[in-house]
Amino acid sequence: MHPRSIKRSGTDGLTITWDDGHVSPLTFHLLRDECPCAECKGETVLLHTYKPQTRVQLPGHYELKSLQQVGSYAVQITWGDGHATGLYSWEYLRKLGESDGKK
Ligand SMILES: [Zn+2]
Repeated sequence: MHPRSIKRSGTDGLTITWDDGHVSPLTFHLLRDECPCAECKGETVLLHTYKPQTRVQLPGHYELKSLQQVGSYAVQITWGDGHATGLYSWEYLRKLGESDGKK
């Protein structure tokens, strides 16, 4: 499963069209809140879960600065506050789109 296109929709989100025709609208807010990096989501190592600390939100927290494809499986998003460690795999984006789409 691959995105056929990833487009900015308006000022606050992305629209991903998948190769099977499915369309996932994703807001920057959702993408940032669900940043998959260890710093944001914590990490489970040998059954111990490390929870991320609550951090102060800097300006640009929900502002998408750039989006770069990583290999053929993910995109890396750079946020307005400089955060760029999250790699969003296609699978993860698809899952986010589905959980967000049930309204
Ligand atoms: Zn993160």
